[in-house]
Amino acid sequence: MIGLGVGVQLGSMQYSCQTYQHPFHPPLETRYGVWSVRQGLIITLKDDSGKVGRGEIAPLPWFGSETWEQAQDYCQCLSPQLTEKDLLSVPDDYPACQFGFGSAWAALTNPTEPTSSQLPMCGLLPTGKTALSACSHLWQQGYRTLKWKIGVDLPAAEQAIFLDLIAELPQTATLRLDANGGLSYQSACQWLGLCDHLTSEVRIEYLEQPLPPSQMADLLALNQQFQTPLALDESVATLAQLQHCYQQGWRDIFIIKPAICGYPESLRQFCQTYAIDAVFSSVFESEIGRQACLQLAADLSNPNRAIGFGVNHWLPEYESLHP
Ligand code: MG
Repeated sequence: MIGLGVGVQLGSMQYSCQTYQHPFHPPLETRYGVWSVRQGLIITLKDDSGKVGRGEIAPLPWFGSETWEQAQDYCQCLSPQLTEKDLLSVPDDYPACQFGFGSAWAALTNPTEPTSSQLPMCGLLPTGKTALSACSHLWQQGYRTLKWKIGVDLPAAEQAIFLDLIAELPQTATLRLDANGGLSYQSACQWLGLCDHLTSEVRIEYLEQPLPPSQMADLLALNQQFQTPLALDESVATLAQLQHCYQQGWRDIFIIKPAICGYPESLRQFCQTYAIDAVFSSVFESEIGRQACLQLAADLSNPNRAIGFGVNHWLPEYESLHP
């Protein structure tokens, strides 16, 4: 078992947890359906001297993390007094809880100043043709890398919008496509062929997760076949999956969502050992989780790529804090 990365030994800590709900505005549409409310938990640890550390649990069950209900049950069954051993004993199938407890512990024992990330951020466009009107707004806000979800409508309809979007974007823009595993092999080939042969100046940085995680051999084959880079996201949601895909030979881009990837220090060790091309990304966590994620991103995300945290415009309550 790995330590939490801090040498300080504490006795027991007071523990409490609180649930939250934050509405998306408008609701976020992806291949998984429409997401209206981000639900999560904030956990608080307090030591004998009165110091406090907070961590956030922000599950994403359609990516393979525990559900919000499972996380809530887990947190409510814990004793109000916890030891370091308790914090290290969160099961591997509760990766969002591992992250929440691990980052609360780090905040308690090794507090750092809030990070205002130096890394550029990628702004998430709305799905479908609404992206056409939204892209100039995000550009004016300073985003130079934008992401657009595909795999929601029929490929021909989305490819027509894609060509309009490319024409609409300034030539210096960088665009990422994210299929959330929703394409067939044939439509993935169509998309990648289209991206490979674009004559526009707009750079297609990568296509994210064209096929579901179960089709790893096909993902590796596609990556050989086309010039447009591929990124794995759903395939590498947890640390165990990340290790597995690396062992299977994936050396292109890895999207890391630290809030569902387990203990932060285990993730740090993996990224530092293998020097992967990592793009750290949000799961629409609130400010407490976001700060913990941004600190990891500052150390571990590829500095030549925008991080996937340009999402606060989807959650008005967050945007009032950090527009
Ligand atoms: Mg993705």
